[in-house]
Amino acid sequence: SLSDDMDTDAAATMPLPQSDERRWSDTSAYARKKILQSWIQLPNGNWELGKILSTSGEESVLSLAEGKVIKVMSETLVPANPDILDGVDDLMQLSYLNEPSVLYNLNYRYNQDMIYTKAGPVLVAVNPFKEVPLYGSSYIEAYRKRSNDSPHVYAIADTAIREMIRDEVNQSIIISGESGAGKTETAKIAMQYLAALGGGSGIEYEILKTNPILEAFGNAKTLRNDNSSRFGKLIEIYFSETGKISGAQVQTFLLEKSRVVQCAEGERSYHIFYQLCAGASPALREKLNLTSAHEYKYLRQSNCYSISGVDDAERFHTVKEALDIVHVSKEDQESVFAMLAAVLWLGNVSFTVIDNENHVEPVADESLSTVAKLIGCNSNDLKLSLSKRNMRVGKDTIVQKLTLPQAIDARDALAKSIYSCLFDWLVEQINKSLAVGKRRTGRSISILDIYGFESFNKNSFEQFCINYANERLQQHFNRHLFKLEQEEYIQDGIDWTRVDFEDNQDCLSLFEKKPLGLLSLLDEESTFPNGTDLTLANKLKQHLLSNSCFRGAREKLFTVVHYAGEVTYETTGFLEKNRDLLHLDSIQLLSSCSCHLPQAFASSMLIQSEKPVVGPLYKAGGADSQRLSVATKFKGQLFQLMQRLGNTTPHFIRCIKPNNVQSPGLYEQGLVLQQLRCCGVLEVVRISRSGFPTRMSHQKFARRYCFLLVENIADKDPLSVSVAILHQFNILPEMYQVGYTKLFFRTGQIGVLEDTRNRTL
Ligand code: ADP
Ligand code: MG
Repeated sequence: SLSDDMDTDAAATMPLPQSDERRWSDTSAYARKKILQSWIQLPNGNWELGKILSTSGEESVLSLAEGKVIKVMSETLVPANPDILDGVDDLMQLSYLNEPSVLYNLNYRYNQDMIYTKAGPVLVAVNPFKEVPLYGSSYIEAYRKRSNDSPHVYAIADTAIREMIRDEVNQSIIISGESGAGKTETAKIAMQYLAALGGGSGIEYEILKTNPILEAFGNAKTLRNDNSSRFGKLIEIYFSETGKISGAQVQTFLLEKSRVVQCAEGERSYHIFYQLCAGASPALREKLNLTSAHEYKYLRQSNCYSISGVDDAERFHTVKEALDIVHVSKEDQESVFAMLAAVLWLGNVSFTVIDNENHVEPVADESLSTVAKLIGCNSNDLKLSLSKRNMRVGKDTIVQKLTLPQAIDARDALAKSIYSCLFDWLVEQINKSLAVGKRRTGRSISILDIYGFESFNKNSFEQFCINYANERLQQHFNRHLFKLEQEEYIQDGIDWTRVDFEDNQDCLSLFEKKPLGLLSLLDEESTFPNGTDLTLANKLKQHLLSNSCFRGAREKLFTVVHYAGEVTYETTGFLEKNRDLLHLDSIQLLSSCSCHLPQAFASSMLIQSEKPVVGPLYKAGGADSQRLSVATKFKGQLFQLMQRLGNTTPHFIRCIKPNNVQSPGLYEQGLVLQQLRCCGVLEVVRISRSGFPTRMSHQKFARRYCFLLVENIADKDPLSVSVAILHQFNILPEMYQVGYTKLFFRTGQIGVLEDTRNRTL
C-alpha cells in the first residue's frame, strides 16, 4: 500500500549520522515502484539514466539508452527526477537531490551554454573554455533592469550592489574553485558589472586596468591553466552614497616566489618576463642589455616560451598602458623593467671553484656586471654577497665561504626577493592610485579570487597553506548558510533546532591550536637549527595523533582530514619554505644600491623583520634576519581577511572545471563531481537535505495537489487543504513543518507527491 511505501521512504530520508557518506545516495526505498526513472552507476563510475521496467524482491529491471535492458540490485539505484525538471536553474528545485541528478542538471545546462546554475544561495559556474554570448552591455542592461533572471555573475553583482545600498552593509563576492576553473575570469566579469553600474568618475577604468598588470606579474602558464594566477587576491571597491565607485584597494596573498627561479617542464615563469623580452623597444633593450627569452637560464629550464594565441609583445604594450593609467611614471616603469632584467641576468650568474675546499665565487662576466649595473651596486659587492655569508656568533661576526649549492641558493633567494618585493611594490603603487578618489563611506564590495582546495599526488607546503585557507573560508561559508537557513526558519515560525549542520572547527583547531597545532609546531621546528623535514614530521606525529583530523603516515608524510577530503602532505621543504630566509648580506647589498627600487625593497624587508612579535620568531642556521615565518604571516593575513569578510554580506561563486584539457564542450562527470564535493556545492545540498529544503507556499501546495484529495474540500482555506493532503498521504510529522506562509519538507517528500500527481494526471 501507499502508506507502507511512505514509511520506508521516510526512513530513507531521515538524516543519517553526521559525515556519513551514504547520505548522498538516496537509498533503495525510492526505487521501489514509485520511481519511474533512476540513475545507475556504470563500472567506469559514470551515471546513466534508466527507466524502471519492473521491480521484484531485491532486484529491478531497467531499460537504458539504445534499448539495453539490465537487471540490478534495487538498492544500487538512485532516483532520477522527472523530465520536467531537466535543466532547472536552481539545483534546489530538484525533487531528488543526489549526486547524479546534480551532475546531470549541470551537464544539461552546460550543453546549451548555460554555464551558470544556482545551488540555493550559491552560484555555480562551469568553465565554457570558449566565448559564450552572455556578456556585454545588453546583458548588463538586462540584469540591471532585472528583465533577465537566469543565474549569472551579473545577477550576483547586482544583488551585491542593491543589498549594499538597501542594508547599508558591505558586501563580498567570494569566488573559489581549482586552478583553471575560471575564478579570475569570473572576478573580472563581476568587476565589469560593478564598473558599468557604478562608473562615472573614471576611477572604474583604473580599477579594470589593475587586471592586466596583476596578471602580467602574478600569472603564468602552468600545465593546468595558460593564465594561472599564482597569488590570491582581494579587491575592495568603494562606493559613494549615490552608488558610484569612489576608489578601490587591492590585497594579495602568498605569491608563488619559487616560480621565478624554477618551473616545471612545459610551464612558464611569470608572463611579464616573456612580454618584456618580446616587446621592449630597441632603446629599452639597449639600456637593460636585454636579449631574447631563450638566453636566460631561468626561462630556458622549462623549455616553454610561448602560449598559443597569445602575443607577448602586444601584451607588453597593454601592460605599459595600464601602468600609465594607474599613474606609475615612465621613470618608475623603467626601473621596474630594470628589476626584471636584473632577475633574468642574475639567473645567468655562474660560479667557479676557488679553493680546494670547494668554495666558489661568481664568474665576473657579462651577467654579473649587468646585474650590478641594473640594481646600481658595485659589481665587487655583488660578487662578495654571492660568495660569502656573514654570521653572527654571540658578539662576533664570522665569515663563511659558500659552496656551490649554498651560492646558488643565495643567488636564487636574491632573485626571488627582488621579484616578490617588486610585486608588492606594484600593488602599493596601484593602491596609491586607486585611493585618489577614495572617500570612505563605509560601503564597499570586495571580490575575493583565491586558490581553491588542492589535493595532488604530492602535496607540499603550498598546498598546506592553501588548504588551510580553504578550511577558514569553508567555515565562513558554513556559518553563513547556517545563518541564512536559520533566518528563514525563524521568519516562518519553524523550529530550526531540528536542522543539523556540520562544522569544520576540529580541522581548524588542528592547524591553529597553540602550542600543539600544525602551525605552532611547524614554527617551533623552523626555529631549531637542527630541525629537518623528518624531525618535523616526527614531531607532528608525536603531538597530534590524538586529533581526529590528523593521521600519521610513514616517514615524512602526514595526513589531514579536510572537509573536502583527506590530503597527505610531504614535509620535504616545509622548514625552508616556512623560514624563507634572505641573508642579511643580501638585504645590505640591496640597501647599498644607488637605484631607488632596490633600496625600497631592502627597507621593506627590514621593516618586516622588525615587526612586533606576533608569532614566534626564529633564528636559523647561519642566517641572521629575524622575520615572521611564512605560515604565521599567512595566518595573520587570513585572520585579517576573515575579519574583513565577517563584516560583509557574502555571495559565493563556485567555479568548476569540466575537463583537464581546457577544451570546450567536454564534461567529465568524475572530475566535476570531485570539485562539487571539494568546493562545498554538494555540502550546500547536503545541508539543505538535512533541513527542510523544499518549500512551497500554502496556496501553491493546495492548488497543486488538492485534486488528489479523496474528500472534496477544495473550497476551504489553503492551509486546511494543505493539512488534509499531508494527512491523506500520511506524510510523517518529522518530514515536514508548517510555517506561517510556507510548508517546509524534507528531501524527497515532494517527489513522492509529484510522482503520484503525474500518474494521476
Ligand atoms: P582560474 O583563475 O580559476 O585558475 P581562469 O579564470 O584563469 O581560471 O580561467 C582559465 C581559462 O578558462 C581562461 O583563460 C579562459 O580561457 C577560460 N574561461 C574561464 N571563464 C570563462 C568564461 N566565463 N568565458 C570564457 N572563457 C572562460
Ligand atoms: Mg586565476
